[in-house]
Amino acid sequence: MRIAIIGAGVVGLSSALALIERGADVTVFDREGVAAGASRGNAGIFADYAVLPESTPDMLRQVPRMLLQPDGPLSLRWRYLPQIAPWLLRFLAAGRPGQARHGTLAMAALMAHVRGDWDHLLSQIGAEDLRVTRGALLAYTSRRAFQADRAGWQARAEHGACDVEPVMGERLHEMEPSLTRDLHYAIHLPNLSHCLNPHGLVERMARAVQQRGGELRLREVAGVTPTETGVRLRLPEGGAVDYDRVVLCAGAHSTALTRSLGLKIPLETERGYNVTLPDPGVTLSRPVSIPEKGYYMTPMSVGLRIGGGVELAGLKAPPRWSRVEVMARHAETMLPGLNRAGEARWMGFRPAMPDTLPVIGPAPGAERVVLAFGHGHLGLTLGATTGQMVAGHIYGSNNRIDSIPYLPTRFG
Ligand SMILES: Cc1cc2nc3c(=O)[nH]c(=O)nc-3n(C[C@H](O)[C@H](O)[C@H](O)COP(=O)(O)OP(=O)(O)OC[C@H]3O[C@@H](n4cnc5c(N)ncnc54)[C@H](O)[C@@H]3O)c2cc1C
Repeated sequence: MRIAIIGAGVVGLSSALALIERGADVTVFDREGVAAGASRGNAGIFADYAVLPESTPDMLRQVPRMLLQPDGPLSLRWRYLPQIAPWLLRFLAAGRPGQARHGTLAMAALMAHVRGDWDHLLSQIGAEDLRVTRGALLAYTSRRAFQADRAGWQARAEHGACDVEPVMGERLHEMEPSLTRDLHYAIHLPNLSHCLNPHGLVERMARAVQQRGGELRLREVAGVTPTETGVRLRLPEGGAVDYDRVVLCAGAHSTALTRSLGLKIPLETERGYNVTLPDPGVTLSRPVSIPEKGYYMTPMSVGLRIGGGVELAGLKAPPRWSRVEVMARHAETMLPGLNRAGEARWMGFRPAMPDTLPVIGPAPGAERVVLAFGHGHLGLTLGATTGQMVAGHIYGSNNRIDSIPYLPTRFG
């Protein structure tokens, strides 16, 4: 089968590898090259604990306060409000208790396969060295904040998503001596894995695709049209190429292509920022998050990466670097002696669905096009599992996970 994949991010290349494994002849199109999007600079966390939807009754209560902090973990550019309002309404609806429970079960079903699917993918391409399992700490600046989050951690643990261990006082400092003594409370996730170089991982996946006979093409795709026997990709200069199947994995930029199929899918972007410090001057042995401020500090082979946050401002607004500056300054107080010399700033567009679940499945009305986008904060985590599901949809072998909760038809 000749299959075109649009997007050389972690989702597109995971899909390419899974399809090649089943014997497909694969071509990956990307208008900017390998790992040009969100997959390039993410925080590297294989966050298989993240089974709760972003929109929960508890979270919704905190939104007004968060929005009033101009550089807090969540910000909205008010000029963008009219455009994003329908998405926000769906986001609110997804936080109703029944919906949130449905979302949690659906996410937990995916997460149950994350470790095994990455084991398979990494060993297949010889990239096991890029994933380490050193656990993570989520550290709180006050007992109140720690207590407020405990129910959420208990719920995640009950869904089998992670082992959770509270850590307090001296033990926290024994585990991470570089952290400020002003932190007294933390949640320890002993089994969490992280990636030492997300960009390097995606590059290796791309090389593996080529070594297995797949083709990478530095080309934009302007539109997708079903034909009688397959699918036609339209190229911007007017050319066209025909394939038997197409997988659409253009991350936050997928809307332009779903529109070409006549579909209206509520994909938005949650923009995130970070800085990577090549010589941080302090050592963390595992990722540490400060949940109240919405950022992670991840030790990587490329330096210490500090960032996160959510900005709702669409795809076109210029970056607002003050957002990452606030996180980096806060990190300086968490890690006394932090050296920011030579830091590299980055902004990425998370592809976000209002119900937090990715879209994985055949396009309504164009069954030979498989959609795979909308992984939000979890695209690295869910990449390998999504690849398997995409291949399952195309080869009719999706029998591990009930695929219904992720189908694009859920938006009516
Ligand atoms: C600050 C930040 C931190 C994050 N941290 C984590 C984390 O710790 N763990 C985790 O699991 N996830 C994390 N994420 C989320 C994760 O990075 C994304 O969910 C994931 O990278 C999405 O992958 P993708 O392949 O769908 O999209 P992308 O990586 O964005 O790839 C899409 C590709 O499609 C190409 N493209 C777009 N339109 C076209 C077109 N018309 N024609 C051809 N090519 C096109 C683009 O050039 C791009 O290369 C983070 C994201 C951000 C922003």
